[in-house]
Amino acid sequence: MTVCTRFAPSPTGYLHIGGARTALYSWLYARQQKGRFILRIEDTDRERSTDEAIDAIFQGMKWLGLEADAQPVFQTQRFDRYREVADQLLAEGHAYRCYCTKERLEALREARIKMKRKPRYDGHCRDRDDHPSDAPFVVRFRNPLEGEVVVSDLIRGPVTFQNEELDDLIIARSDGTPTYNFTVVVDDWDMHVTHVIRGDDHLNNTPRQMNILQALGATPPIYAHVPMILGEDGKRLSKRHGAVSVLQYRDEGYMPEALLNYLVRLGWSHGDQEVFHCDELIELFDLKQVSRSAAVFNPKKLLWLNEVHIKESAPAKVAEQLQWHFDSLGIDASAGPSLVDLVIAQRERAKTLKEMAESSRFFYEEFEKYDAKAARKNLTDAAWPALTALREALAALDDNGWASDERLHETVEKAAERLALGFGKLAQPLRVAVTGGSVSPSINVTLRLLGKTKVLARLDRAIASIAS
Ligand code: GLU
Repeated sequence: MTVCTRFAPSPTGYLHIGGARTALYSWLYARQQKGRFILRIEDTDRERSTDEAIDAIFQGMKWLGLEADAQPVFQTQRFDRYREVADQLLAEGHAYRCYCTKERLEALREARIKMKRKPRYDGHCRDRDDHPSDAPFVVRFRNPLEGEVVVSDLIRGPVTFQNEELDDLIIARSDGTPTYNFTVVVDDWDMHVTHVIRGDDHLNNTPRQMNILQALGATPPIYAHVPMILGEDGKRLSKRHGAVSVLQYRDEGYMPEALLNYLVRLGWSHGDQEVFHCDELIELFDLKQVSRSAAVFNPKKLLWLNEVHIKESAPAKVAEQLQWHFDSLGIDASAGPSLVDLVIAQRERAKTLKEMAESSRFFYEEFEKYDAKAARKNLTDAAWPALTALREALAALDDNGWASDERLHETVEKAAERLALGFGKLAQPLRVAVTGGSVSPSINVTLRLLGKTKVLARLDRAIASIAS
């Protein structure tokens, strides 16, 4: 049996992190079992589904690296198939046409509520054999009246439902369109899904889906219902708690690996290990060990993991993400040091990639003006002779010297000695002169990455600005 999992979002909003976590668990399980992972867009609710949401799902999944093994499936393209299976169930007596009017159903509902009982269909048309030819009808599944359904959930253990609690579900509406629980069943069956990993808000749907699968002669998949994610106040995670959309995390400068690492740990652990890289997760992740209780989202921990992943990931990987932020901030990455070199220089100091990109702009573009406070303190009359002398020393340095952090350091150090200044007393005005502000990687690295031409031109500008 080849394992097949799927992520089946309804494109009615952004891809939120709860969805991303079930997608991740499904993807990890498929990869670990050398199986297949499918992306299925559950877009049958045409009023609430939008193209923007579909696009956000694709972009989010791509950014997270949760690639599917086949083209995405759209439920709206499978209506013929759902009709065919509904007809099959009708022909085999597992489903029936229900002609009950809205008014009758409404009256039934009210009567049951008055009796303080759960509203449910009373099976009025279940055994009816007249077929009023022009009356509208829905198709209902003939749910077994007795017995029980046991969901052997991988995370929660066995959960038992009584059939008498489940009413005859509508599988096709009067306009012929299929309903949610039915499309899921047909798709999971047709796509040979072996493991359904989804949010536990779907647990109540599971016995109904299993009954339909059984009626079709199919073996139900194995289910794993993942508990909810809560905000720090114990309420279900929502926008009130901050960013909940995957793409918002991208925009704010998170590494996809950091978000994946955070999400996997929300509800799963491996000893006391906190930092995981993707390959390692594929090996270690264990669906059976996912916690049964809801997890609490902690943005500070996610930010901490982001810093760790920025520092520890291969610079080329970080650079790839950083390029996106350069593009979105309109910084031309070809106008300065390679992004890999930049990442190596900046990775110790950045909490997010957005911050890294913003604080690196001066490597690529001329800054407009000096940071006022830094300039007041450092670009003083007293700094003028020092910067002038330093310019001369740096101008005399050859290309090999400009490629060497040590020689650049030595050049600044020697100039400081000659000027009888402490290293910092010279390095800081130099930093303000070449970066426009008071924060940058170590001065030798800053000089090397900027390169001789930019450094000398900016020193000229600083010297002139002091003189004016
Ligand atoms: N489309 C459902 C949702 O977005 C998921 C259904 C499923 O995984 O079975 O909540």
